[in-house]
Amino acid sequence: TPAIEAVGITRDYPLEGVTVQALRGVSLRIDEGEYVAVVGPSGSGKSTLMHLLGCLDRPTTGSLKVGGEESSGLDGTALASLRNRTIGFVFQSFALLPRVSALDNVALPLVYRGVPGAERRARAAAALDRVGLAERRNHRPTQLSGGEQQRVAIARALVGEPRILLADEPTGNLDTRTGHEVMAILERLNVESGVAVVLVTHDLEVAARARRQVHVRDGLVERDTGVPA
Ligand code: ADP
Ligand code: ADP
Repeated sequence: TPAIEAVGITRDYPLEGVTVQALRGVSLRIDEGEYVAVVGPSGSGKSTLMHLLGCLDRPTTGSLKVGGEESSGLDGTALASLRNRTIGFVFQSFALLPRVSALDNVALPLVYRGVPGAERRARAAAALDRVGLAERRNHRPTQLSGGEQQRVAIARALVGEPRILLADEPTGNLDTRTGHEVMAILERLNVESGVAVVLVTHDLEVAARARRQVHVRDGLVERDTGVPA
């Protein structure tokens, strides 16, 4: 099964009596283990698309399967369950809890899943090890560099072993060199674990490192360099 299969998805936002059509019929298939960059001008619909792929929201019309499951008809609880089982998120802003250790930040998604404490700590420690931060487990985010904070966030995104990692401008708050280090880690994890990676970026160099680029414009996929067979 593909990791993601969207067929003709649209998303309307009602706005002051008129309807803004943020997505106007997007079809997109992303296979297990792919590495895809989504690019396009501001306002083209990238965030809306990522929210739909991440099961934070449902399409207005069309079919969207995430991890083989149809998301479009689900109620909020079922959508959250699908999201928690399937998706890991990485944000531009890192979105770490400032007052708790790197280890506790990484373990947090497992709390929501009811994983017992000892197992949570073991899995969080293993995830931190995979991003090269085993030695930093007891540091708080404020005691870490930006690149280290984003690596903690990547470990948190992967601790639940999602099939799909969605990253919204993951290098947007990092200097060029640190951004490349973070990209190298994402690329290695993609190869090692087979997690599909979909990232939104304005950085052309970052986009060029992906094997496939999906260009979004005016709510449509304008160009896709790697439509799988
Ligand atoms: P991008 O991420 O490429 O900048 P967005 O998905 O954020 O694009 O936005 C696509 C279009 O939908 C834009 O015209 C934007 O103004 C509109 N839009 C996005 N979110 C909302 C919302 N919550 N309410 C109304 N319009 C929205
Ligand atoms: P930024 O572009 O500055 O990184 P964020 O990544 O913090 O912005 O947020 C992007 C979008 O994802 C926002 O609409 C926010 O509400 C949503 N979001 C952020 N964190 C979570 C989360 N843990 N669960 C669900 N939605 C989230």
